[in-house]
Amino acid sequence: MSVRAPAPVTRPVGTAGGATLGAVTEYPARAVVDLAAVRGNVRALAAHAPTAQVMAVVKADAYGHGLVPSARAAVDGGAAWLGVAQVPEALELRRAGVVGPRVLTWLYAPGAPLREALEADVDVSVSAAWALDEVVAAARASGRTARVHLKVDTGLGRNGLTPAQLDDVLPAALAAQAEGAVELVGVWSHLAFADEPAHPTVRAQAVVFADAVRLLEQAGAHLEVRHLANSAATLTDPGVHYDLVRPGIAVYGISPVPQVGDPASFGLVPAMTLEAELATVKPVAAGHGVSYAHQYVTTQDTVLGVVPLGYADGVPRHASGTQEKPGGPVRVGGRTVGVTGRVCMDQVVLDLGPGATDRAGDRVELFGTGADGGPTAQDWADAAGTIAYEIVTRVGARVPRVHVDSEAALMEAAVNEVAL
Ligand SMILES: *Cc1c(COP(=O)(O)O)cnc(C)c1O
Repeated sequence: MSVRAPAPVTRPVGTAGGATLGAVTEYPARAVVDLAAVRGNVRALAAHAPTAQVMAVVKADAYGHGLVPSARAAVDGGAAWLGVAQVPEALELRRAGVVGPRVLTWLYAPGAPLREALEADVDVSVSAAWALDEVVAAARASGRTARVHLKVDTGLGRNGLTPAQLDDVLPAALAAQAEGAVELVGVWSHLAFADEPAHPTVRAQAVVFADAVRLLEQAGAHLEVRHLANSAATLTDPGVHYDLVRPGIAVYGISPVPQVGDPASFGLVPAMTLEAELATVKPVAAGHGVSYAHQYVTTQDTVLGVVPLGYADGVPRHASGTQEKPGGPVRVGGRTVGVTGRVCMDQVVLDLGPGATDRAGDRVELFGTGADGGPTAQDWADAAGTIAYEIVTRVGARVPRVHVDSEAALMEAAVNEVAL
């Protein structure tokens, strides 16, 4: 599979999140999201799971990438389904006019707007007896048949009916189906150790899942989709692809199994670049304390640079730098330097080195595709002791999302070339 890094940032095609902050130049930082990368990643995931449909998981504002533009790009890349956790996320998609794909919502508490979900043609998951009752009530109230996916806790110990609960809930679900209030279209579950592909619990969960599928089919459910695989299982475990795979993080071009392979090894390209302009650059003498509590003190005459992104913007405070250990990596002027001293709410400081010629206004990159040797979200995850999922998802609401399309830009460039 050939992987081409997206072209440099070019054409904004709209913004979401922080949209009130307006144009690129009005705010000194931004998360640039390449929708061509999202489309290409979904195509790559479909190729990894040729026998299954793809549900692109776009919960949590599409892992911080902007819900609606990312969802549209995923659909353009071939996702027939979109997955969200919360009901309002599903409603937002439909309200924005994303009406083609099936949408599944799976995490709600009693009193959720299920009637609105059904009226918006959203599939709903059922993880408890009370949830089935509320779905049936919503179906009766709306005059619609609810498309239900029964979720089974096959071993994750999170949401889902335990096999014993499934035995209890199934008769009521079948009665509701006979009445026309619901249609049992799916059975599904989620893996605890998909990111450790050889872990014995994966096979154990698959066995419990197969039992649940058999139980439902023998009871007369005409299941449309059985689904178990997240990104990691989509990329590493064809045995659990079933009818539908549910990748999230891989849609955004991040490897769910960094110890197994980087994004490029799976045909993925990171979609988000977090960048900023240097706000201040100044020379300081040796022995100058940097940022709160002086965790870092300059050891020579040097130049400091201030980046206007801090923990309010999602830069993890755990990736602060100390004298011994540089913090999270930042690309500046073709080199990569670690954050020095504490990450503050709005800013971080870089020791740019003696004689540095960087200037206020110069572009710096906290993470991007990594194609040019620059830092990635995974590098920040390593620096902060977390996972790359958290790095992209936590980018703050204050940071404008700028959506670009590197393929459209390339086509435009080609057209211009022909015109010349
Ligand atoms: C978030 C989520 C996914 C996607 O997981 P990734 O590891 O991001 O691919 C799939 N299924 C469920 C139930 C989820 O909560």
